[in-house]
Amino acid sequence: TMTIKCKKCSTPSIIYQPYSGLHLCEKHFYEDLERKAKLTLRQRYPIKKNDVIAVALSGGKDSSVALLLMHKIFGNRPDIRIVAITIDEGIAGYRNESIARAKELTARLGIEHIVKSFREEYGKTMDDITSEKKLMENHFGDEKKELGACSYCGVLRKKILNVVARDIGATKLVIGHNLDDEAQTVMLNHFRGDVERMVRFSAANELDGFIVRVKPLRKIPEKEIALYAYLHDLPMELTSCPHSFGALRKEVRRMLNGFEVNHPGTKYSLVRGFDNMVPLLAAGLEVSDIRNCEICGEPCNDSICQACKMLEKSI
Ligand code: SF4
Ligand code: ZN
Repeated sequence: TMTIKCKKCSTPSIIYQPYSGLHLCEKHFYEDLERKAKLTLRQRYPIKKNDVIAVALSGGKDSSVALLLMHKIFGNRPDIRIVAITIDEGIAGYRNESIARAKELTARLGIEHIVKSFREEYGKTMDDITSEKKLMENHFGDEKKELGACSYCGVLRKKILNVVARDIGATKLVIGHNLDDEAQTVMLNHFRGDVERMVRFSAANELDGFIVRVKPLRKIPEKEIALYAYLHDLPMELTSCPHSFGALRKEVRRMLNGFEVNHPGTKYSLVRGFDNMVPLLAAGLEVSDIRNCEICGEPCNDSICQACKMLEKSI
């Protein structure tokens, strides 16, 4: 027969993992993915008694899977509170849809849900910012940095997430980054030659003044997250953001996907190697002190935080 069977039982397989050589059925695929997420949590971000877990929920597949997993793993722990936080960046034709899906999902799981917008926090939307962007690029022009929409969006979103998470007393902030995202970021940091940023990116603790960022999906390939989301009828990104990713990340993504086809396990090795390297780097590096931004008071490593720099056109 043509049916390929699961390596762990005799049911038909629904997925092949080139990097492990395993064919898995639905049940064993779930088990495998959930085991990886739990292992990542245990090894890197142990959840403690009375933790308040905030989950950054965009309404896309990755953060939806992250929320579902946290709910599956910790949902019946009476001492642990899970709260989803969605940020409305104000991107016409894109965010409204994903916010609706985020609301559906939290209602379905019975999870508390907070929605905050760029407009209410900053007085402007991402769409406003991208139309002003030409102006702002001049301020960074001396550094010859290519700051795409996603740089602004990411910094400004991270700030609101941190403020809201702190306001509700969160002790952890779950982010849906998957293996592909992590591997791309590792490569990008290498390409930029930015060692301090590598260490900072990896700091899984309060040292940087931010709430501990937890990434349960960082060892799980994007394709598998997509399949898991599909099989659980979770939101799938059907529309894409009009302010697309930076050109460099796109290139790196394409390159890594090519490597993964020819050399399965490349993304995983990149992330693992990076994890092993960071403690060695951190030991020999003076990471600048945490201060408070003179404008907003949020933690940063300069006199004015990146978000305020981005928002202050007149700096
Ligand atoms: Fe923001 Fe970039 Fe994501 Fe669009 S693609 S929502 S600009 S981070
Ligand atoms: Zn099976």
